[in-house]
Amino acid sequence: MSRLVLVIGLASSLLTFSAFAGGDPAMVSTSIADRFDFPVGGPNADGCRMSRGFNVHGHLGEDWVSAAGPGAIYRAPVSAVANGVVSLARDFKRSWGNVIVIRHAFYEGGQLKYADSLYAHLDKIFVAEGQPVTRGQEIGLVGNAHGLYPPHLHFEIHRNTSIGVVHTSASRSLANYEDPSAFIMQHRVLRAVPGKMVVDLDTYTMPSYPGVPARPFYTRNAVSRFAVSNGGTRPASPSIFQPLFGR
Ligand SMILES: [Zn+2]
Repeated sequence: MSRLVLVIGLASSLLTFSAFAGGDPAMVSTSIADRFDFPVGGPNADGCRMSRGFNVHGHLGEDWVSAAGPGAIYRAPVSAVANGVVSLARDFKRSWGNVIVIRHAFYEGGQLKYADSLYAHLDKIFVAEGQPVTRGQEIGLVGNAHGLYPPHLHFEIHRNTSIGVVHTSASRSLANYEDPSAFIMQHRVLRAVPGKMVVDLDTYTMPSYPGVPARPFYTRNAVSRFAVSNGGTRPASPSIFQPLFGR
């Protein structure tokens, strides 16, 4: 009996950690992005429209809804905009609802570059932190941040991979944030590179929030860092966390 449990446990950990490279849980391999697509309405945002645009000094992403009218986007599929690895997938409750961040590696002008795509207010999450995803893969459903907003997808692309979900981590500038639609339109044809690339997911600080684990499971030395900063207890301080989020 105990042997059976051990075998099942081993098999499931192998499955969970098969993407890790070199035994470091923060280093995960991904297919290199061959192009970027829109996150709703298939590759070309068919049947969808932007209800609120990007402004580097205000709204740091885009809001997407259905062209069919208010509320019609609710529970529509959300797709990964490109190949990558999920660096964050969790429920931030009534501040931002369910959020996914995906890290992408791609070649542009002969250079290897990285970008993070962020999908917020989701009704459902279908992926886990550390999981490799492919372009067009359904990662969740459009939601309303637990009833906080009318249904829409809040979508961001970060050039700076130290932002994560904390907007105050970097200054509001085009050096750190991309105009999402413009970025997608400029990255529809990329150098196709077969094989995998190892990316470091442990590049941004996770906020603390009641009921939300402060560290992704892949964070290096997660246990010791957690113990030092929080005395081994659940992190608190929504007042620190909440103002960091935009709609
Ligand atoms: Zn928004």
